[in-house]
Amino acid sequence: MSKTTEILDAYRKAVMGTYSPGVVVASGKGVTVRDADGLILYDFTSGIGVQNVGYSHPKVVKAIQDQAALVTHCSNLFANEPATRLAERLVELSGLGGKVFFCNSGAEANEAAIKLARRWGSASGGRFEVVTFRQGFHGRTLATLAATAQSWCQDGYDPLPVGFAYADYNDLESVRAAITDKTVAIMLEPVQGEGGVTPATPEFMAGVRALCDEKNLLMICDEVQSGMGRTGTWFAWQGYDVKPDLFTLAKALGGGLPMGALVASEKFADVFTPSSHASTFGGNPVAAAAALAVIDVIEEEGLCERATKLGELFKEALAAEVDKYDQLLEVRGKGLMLGLVVDGDAKPIVQALQDQGLLALTAGPNVVRFLPPLVLEEGDLEEAVDMISDALDCVYNG
Ligand SMILES: *Cc1c(COP(=O)(O)O)cnc(C)c1O
Repeated sequence: MSKTTEILDAYRKAVMGTYSPGVVVASGKGVTVRDADGLILYDFTSGIGVQNVGYSHPKVVKAIQDQAALVTHCSNLFANEPATRLAERLVELSGLGGKVFFCNSGAEANEAAIKLARRWGSASGGRFEVVTFRQGFHGRTLATLAATAQSWCQDGYDPLPVGFAYADYNDLESVRAAITDKTVAIMLEPVQGEGGVTPATPEFMAGVRALCDEKNLLMICDEVQSGMGRTGTWFAWQGYDVKPDLFTLAKALGGGLPMGALVASEKFADVFTPSSHASTFGGNPVAAAAALAVIDVIEEEGLCERATKLGELFKEALAAEVDKYDQLLEVRGKGLMLGLVVDGDAKPIVQALQDQGLLALTAGPNVVRFLPPLVLEEGDLEEAVDMISDALDCVYNG
């Protein structure tokens, strides 16, 4: 029996079946992972948008090792330098002049954003409702699940928390129709990830900002998947001519360690006051040290520019495949967050890619999603594109 089979059998017996993995990752380096039997695969999932600077980047590894030897946790009753410096960096990169709340995941960061909006709304006329979008994704806690307007996540969890209204993405009229006198915020992903890799149009982002200004609402950007250089800017909203009031980060922020953050603009920086919100591990010094290293690497290695440049090359290569097959409808996305839209089920393509040695994801039923590490080299991309070509040939030409 292979090591992979042995571990997967044990996994299925001991780990709840919320996922059904077919690969056991033993280690990772740059844009590849090695499985339990020594097979090397390109990881064009980045561990679902986490390994933006690549697996085991020496700078990130060293930052984690050095900080672990100093102190791994000290609670938020005491401050630590890495989290403080990280907050400064995030505020500086955002240009919003505000403050940061740290937590441990994307769902928690969005939960914090929703709580901040409600706290502000309760002091401004008892408003609490947040408008979110169909095909959006904001996490799996009860509140963020209620914010996630997709039945495949919500089924079986009634009653969901109240206080959310749903609108259609890239449709400003439907947003206007969803706003009531109880609305306090509009929350959106600048590029919808799980829902199908759909970027907001510039007009839509500008229109949401204008609506928020007109109705005195918070504009919240969920950057959990699109942030940290993924779409060619530090945060995807920076690729539009707008500024949100709040935005959230997680996934790639901690370089593989669990870390989430809510960044608020100056106007909303002090809505949370002592004891109004908290997290035991939030701002964990090891995760914060890793995040500081991630930011340094993105900057030093020009990874935002690389995401733009290689994203364009990758998009062109995928567009060439779309031209070859009637079953492929479109390529969409931004930077190195790309989706190949299929007329039919995307899963067989993801399986065929894995058989070729390339890990990819789905996004909804009919989109193959690619989120390669931003440290991708042109040579890697060429090899990956050949694998994609071969996989599509297997699926469509048998
Ligand atoms: C993954 C994701 C989340 C949830 O993050 P977790 O860390 O899994 O809680 C929230 N929003 C978006 C856009 C995501 O992609």
